[in-house]
Amino acid sequence: MDLQLTNKRALITGSTKGIGKAIATTMAQEGANVIINGRSQAAVDSVVAELHTKFPKVEITGAAYDLSDDQALAELYQQIPTVDVLINNMGIFKPMDYFDITDEDWQRFIDINVMVGNKLARHYMPTMLKQNFGRIIFIASEEAIMPSGEMPQYSLTKTMNLSLAKSLSKLTKATNVTVNTVMPGSTLTEGVQQMLDDMYAGQGLTQTQKETDFMKNHRPLSQIQRLIRPEEIGDFVAYVASPIAGAFSGEALRMDGGMVPTIF
Ligand code: NAD
Repeated sequence: MDLQLTNKRALITGSTKGIGKAIATTMAQEGANVIINGRSQAAVDSVVAELHTKFPKVEITGAAYDLSDDQALAELYQQIPTVDVLINNMGIFKPMDYFDITDEDWQRFIDINVMVGNKLARHYMPTMLKQNFGRIIFIASEEAIMPSGEMPQYSLTKTMNLSLAKSLSKLTKATNVTVNTVMPGSTLTEGVQQMLDDMYAGQGLTQTQKETDFMKNHRPLSQIQRLIRPEEIGDFVAYVASPIAGAFSGEALRMDGGMVPTIF
């Protein structure tokens, strides 16, 4: 299938590792000119070099900015005034006890997981509407519709992503601009690998044994009983971001290995 992404300009926030890097990789493979973002210049440079070697025909641009800083956002807009595709992937998560979460913690999660994507959409969406093409995708989580209680300050922000994407989709009526949310389930990113390594430290388990035990005891509702690979999410998001996926609008799309047990 040709995703028709050739020469589309795509900003993927938080794309130096994990799900964001996987999205950027598939999009570059499909011919999109991708903009790699992360906080560290070295990490951004390294992914830009890696993708440039793999896909020499597409343009790979680095944009090292801490997006939680308004000054950095202003610099990003100077460097990258317009995009065809905005993937609001960057987000933070941390299991926390409800009674230990301070007001500052709640605000930080909302600022980073909701407001950054909101500000980016507010900046990039008007040009998309003017050119009559654009894709905005928020990366939420199954926690958006099935809060586990392990990290209330995170789950709240992911539910907010769904509402925001739906509201933004209302602004796109009768255009070729779409706004959607993708909700991955537990995915084997570097952060999740570290969590597994910490959880099973000193037990002498293989990677497969760690993953099997984790799924059985901590993610019992998963139907596939394995962690999703970042590339699986990357391929799906690249499709939703493509011109051929124009009939998704304001949708909350699940890719959670069957973890959410309801039909809708
Ligand atoms: P990750 O922690 O592996 O990667 C996060 C990326 O964001 C990195 O590139 C990091 O440099 C960047 N980043 C963090 N703060 C930043 C900031 N202020 N400015 C710019 N860049 C910043 O994350 P991941 O596991 O790949 O998750 C990506 C998204 O997917 C998140 O929104 C997360 O909530 C969501 N998600 C992850 C999982 C999972 O199991 N891994 C499941 C569901 C949803």
